[in-house]
Amino acid sequence: MFEFKCNTCDKIHQGVPTFGYEFPIYYLDVPENERSERCFLTSDTCVIDDKFFFVRGCVEIHVHGEEEPFIWGVWVSLSEKSFFRFQELYEVAERDEEPPFFGWLNTCFADYSTEEENLKTNVYLRNNGIRPYIDIEPTNHRLAVEQREGISKERLIEIYELMTHGKRKEL
Ligand SMILES: [Zn+2]
Repeated sequence: MFEFKCNTCDKIHQGVPTFGYEFPIYYLDVPENERSERCFLTSDTCVIDDKFFFVRGCVEIHVHGEEEPFIWGVWVSLSEKSFFRFQELYEVAERDEEPPFFGWLNTCFADYSTEEENLKTNVYLRNNGIRPYIDIEPTNHRLAVEQREGISKERLIEIYELMTHGKRKEL
C-alpha cells in the first residue's frame, strides 16, 4: 500500500488519494449572492444561466509501482447537446459504448502553475454510475504529460502534501 511520512504534519498518510473539486471554476466566478438564482449544482453536474453546462469526471494518473491510479476529480464544460445526452444516460447502467463527448477542462488546480482552464478533453462514460473518465488532449501541459506517462511516488507525495495542508513545509 502507498504510504509515506508527511514532512508537514509528521503523520503517516496511507492510500493513494483522490482529490476533487466541488465546482467548476465558472461557478466561483458567479458572485455568491447570485448563485442560487443563476446556478444549478449537483455532485455531478452544474448548469449556469441555462447556457453553460458542466459535468464532473476523473482524470486518472498512473503512479509508478502502484496498482491504484491517483485521481483528480475535475469539471469539464460540455455543449448543450452533449450535456442533455449525458443527462439521458445518467441512470443507465450500460453506457460505455457511447462515443466520447468533447469537453473543455474547467478546473484550475491548486497544484499546477500554468493555466488548466480550457485544456481540451474527451469525456468517456463508464458503466454502473462511475463518473466519466476524462482524457486530456496529449499536449506538453504538465497535467497532460502526467496523465500520459504516469507520476512517481515522490510527485504524488508532493501533490498530497499540497492538497492536504495547503502548502509544503520548507525543507
Ligand atoms: Zn501531513
